Amino acid sequence: MFNETVTAAKNESIMPTYARFPITLVKGKGSYVWDNNDTKYLDFTSGIGTCNLGHVPDVVKNAVESQLQELWHCSNLFHIPSQQKLADLLTENSFGDKIFFCNSGAEANEGAIKLARRYAQKVKGSAAFEVVTFTQSFHGRTLATLTATGQTKIQDGFAPLVPGFRYLPFNDMNALEQVAGEKTCAVLLEVIQGEGGVNHASEEWLQQLAHICKENDILLMVDEIQTGMGRTGKLFAYENYGIEPDVMTLAKGLGSGFPIGAIVASEKVAKAFEAGTHGTTFGGNPIVTTAGVATITEIVDNVLPTVAELGMYLSEKLQQLKVKFPTQVKEVRGAGLMRGIELHGPAADVLKKAREEQHVLVLPAGPNVVRLLPPLTTTKAEIDEVLAVLETVFSEIAEEGKSV
Ligand SMILES: *Cc1c(COP(=O)(O)O)cnc(C)c1O
Repeated sequence: MFNETVTAAKNESIMPTYARFPITLVKGKGSYVWDNNDTKYLDFTSGIGTCNLGHVPDVVKNAVESQLQELWHCSNLFHIPSQQKLADLLTENSFGDKIFFCNSGAEANEGAIKLARRYAQKVKGSAAFEVVTFTQSFHGRTLATLTATGQTKIQDGFAPLVPGFRYLPFNDMNALEQVAGEKTCAVLLEVIQGEGGVNHASEEWLQQLAHICKENDILLMVDEIQTGMGRTGKLFAYENYGIEPDVMTLAKGLGSGFPIGAIVASEKVAKAFEAGTHGTTFGGNPIVTTAGVATITEIVDNVLPTVAELGMYLSEKLQQLKVKFPTQVKEVRGAGLMRGIELHGPAADVLKKAREEQHVLVLPAGPNVVRLLPPLTTTKAEIDEVLAVLETVFSEIAEEGKSV
């Protein structure tokens, strides 16, 4: 349990946009974090799918430490070696031909929406500006990206929203005929919706969607901010579906915690961004792209091969949990090391017990889904530990007579 200093931590000078857990974290290594009372937690949140190599991984730390001695920032008025290197690594390892670096996920999606509009204006004319997105999606908190987000709770109070967005139900075969329209310039989607509940696109639906986009010269834009960088067992989740997008956005796992985002685009589409059309002061600076180079190199060379196997192991264990607690667990889903446990009751009870009684950190994804985003460097032993904790928590809640 927590002493007064922790539970009383109030952050009075910080805007109350987050209902924070009552823990103050001061240190991390691998799959573990420590609070300011030196209590150790097994962390299956990875800073919301960001610290994919675990906390403070040596490969990234060493690379950034040596870059810190050389140059921190110079702006995009100059060539930056680590930025060029990271762009090369991203194009070598994806469908993409060209990269634009920015600072966050929202900014990557914002830029992708601008790119799609500009591309469509050139090839289809100014009437084609509409971007189709899906219910339960999450694309960020800027005005355009919260408009793209298919959840009214994210948009509440921010009207008037940005014109030019249309929402369709996710995974609905029947709705696909509404994708193509005179005004449609692009479709933006998460291959697996993260914040919206760990909902994965069905193969048939996504392949059909990709087909419709190709037929109608509509850009297929995948938001891989959460699913990318090895999370699902492939470097990018679209690879699981045998499709090829036109645009992909990245952020979270790209820099191991250093703030970086990226727009990845095919040559054909990237041409719409000529000099002077889009920009950023910090985007892709020497420090964050050095972190990115070290991160992607380590993931591709040493981590990716084990993610699929660990993901299968986690999935089997979650299936067993569902069988054992049918009154509590409704469904388990996801891919690789991105997994959701949909409950009949609130996820918050499970999170709280796991955190306070067992010192295990897991995430919610909406009100009823417990989300697991362990570092990709986790082990079967750590997975066993977290699953044992979930069993204990579910048993306790069952005994207390609550149905979770
Ligand atoms: C986190 C996230 C974003 C927003 O990224 P920020 O860096 O918080 O702006 C956008 N899309 C998806 C799928 C995300 O998971």
